[in-house]
Amino acid sequence: MGKLRFLLAVIIGKISAFLLDKIFKRGTNTPGIIMLKICPDALSRFVMPKTTICVTGTNGKTGTSNLLTHIIRNSGKTVVNNSKGSNMAPGLASALVTQCTLSGKVTADVAVLEVDERSSQYIYTEFTPDYILCTNLFRDSIMRNGHSGFIFDKINDYLNEKTTLVLNGNDGISGLLGEGICNRVFYSVNKTDKSTETCVDTVCDLIACPKCNHKLDYEFFHYNHIGVPKCSHCGFRMPQSRFFASDVDFENGTFVFNGDKGESLVLPFQKGNFFNVFNITGACAVCRLMGIDLDIIENSIEDLSSKTGRFENKKYNGVEVISMLSKNQNPISCSQSLKYLESTDNEKDVVLLITDSNDKVHGHEDISWIYDTDFAPLNNENVKTVYVGGTRCYDVANCLEIKGIDIAKLVLFENYDDLAQEVSKKSIVGRNIIVYFELYATGVVEKIKNALAQKGDEN
Ligand SMILES: [Zn+2]
Repeated sequence: MGKLRFLLAVIIGKISAFLLDKIFKRGTNTPGIIMLKICPDALSRFVMPKTTICVTGTNGKTGTSNLLTHIIRNSGKTVVNNSKGSNMAPGLASALVTQCTLSGKVTADVAVLEVDERSSQYIYTEFTPDYILCTNLFRDSIMRNGHSGFIFDKINDYLNEKTTLVLNGNDGISGLLGEGICNRVFYSVNKTDKSTETCVDTVCDLIACPKCNHKLDYEFFHYNHIGVPKCSHCGFRMPQSRFFASDVDFENGTFVFNGDKGESLVLPFQKGNFFNVFNITGACAVCRLMGIDLDIIENSIEDLSSKTGRFENKKYNGVEVISMLSKNQNPISCSQSLKYLESTDNEKDVVLLITDSNDKVHGHEDISWIYDTDFAPLNNENVKTVYVGGTRCYDVANCLEIKGIDIAKLVLFENYDDLAQEVSKKSIVGRNIIVYFELYATGVVEKIKNALAQKGDEN
């Protein structure tokens, strides 16, 4: 009976995926939703490829998954991934059904699947990944995820001993996953010119030793609680990293990736995006564990270095618009994106579309995360105007004022159309516009771009 249900789910999943792709020209989760309705254990019935890699963690999942997919494809293998759909069970089912036989055998050589941390129990219980790469764990979407410790348990409770965990050795939270359960491999980033002795960010999610609960010391911090933790009471230290990044050159946007056999590569990363160094190092670690050659990795990263991440820039009649996705309810992601403002000397106007633009549908009563975000880069003298958009603009403005941002720079708009028109009207040739937007605000970014393009047409 189960087999028949699964066959039916695969057939209907394939048909709906085909039709939706033809009609909407994009991926969706609908085929997966239908499949799981017909056959709730569909994910466990797929015959998974020889290598299955899951990528999870608070920040950097998408960037790391895309990197992995790109490198593995360049090595000559075929890859199925869920980059077009969601990172929850229906998104995974939707991806797998497009590349499987009627019996459910996935035909790609490798599966690279981004997995929502909170969905671990619905995914790792259905199939056993060969590798799980966890990028990091931070406080994030407090109303949904509660606390990083809560999410840690959500992942740890569903790990299988056959999985190799690839973990961030600079993260004293996610780095403890799988202890006594799985084979664990660590990657980390060495001390850089920007490392600090104390945590200079608002949020530090790990202040007590995870082993003895005494106050935790750090050799240095990269950002937030990411660094080298050590406990002088019980001697707790993170395990040795088999793969590590060294010689991070922020000026030129390069670093050295060091492998476990003494090999090394100079690789580029997106300037102003330090996350990128961790994402690349983690992805390279998995690729090396899979036996992919160094030169393939090197060429792939160089080739992709300008395209990875949720970062886009385009010029409209002399005005460069740089848009950066800043995940809503995620203070670490938002703070890291804002640091980009300090990495260039150009004059710029900043547009903040960071609160829920679709507030009525996805509204969050909790705005504490804004207070956990570091807005200090807005005080940079090159930042001329800060536009704040959306129904939450007054909440953001209030927080900015409390945090000492010069309120003379602020311009508030509840209405996005008015905001787009004003940003375009006041734009100055040679001055960049940096737009920080949350996932549901992509349409607003388009409005701004359209208004700028139209202004050009009128001139
Ligand atoms: Zn301790």
